[in-house]
Amino acid sequence: MEWRGFDSMRILIILILVLVLYYMLRGLFRPRKGERVGRSHPNVGEGTDNELVKDPYCLVYVPLNTAFHTKREGKDLFFCSKECMNRYLQERKDNSSDAG
Ligand SMILES: [Zn+2]
Repeated sequence: MEWRGFDSMRILIILILVLVLYYMLRGLFRPRKGERVGRSHPNVGEGTDNELVKDPYCLVYVPLNTAFHTKREGKDLFFCSKECMNRYLQERKDNSSDAG
């Protein structure tokens, strides 16, 4: 019988599990240095991911990452929906024939 070998193997596995748990818990409870506490959006970095842009057609603010983007006369335009984008461009097209 190889009782003893099996038993020491089990103890080793339990020891490793306890160690892993210990390090995980220690990492959880230890506050990281240099990190500011009280940020409202911890997942959002300093980038422009969460920037709000104004829909020039219906005048609502939409997040940049979900907005519909088009370029017109070198300007970046953002819309809440494709419908708004099409309507806005349609209106601009109608007006552009007049000198304004
Ligand atoms: Zn819109």
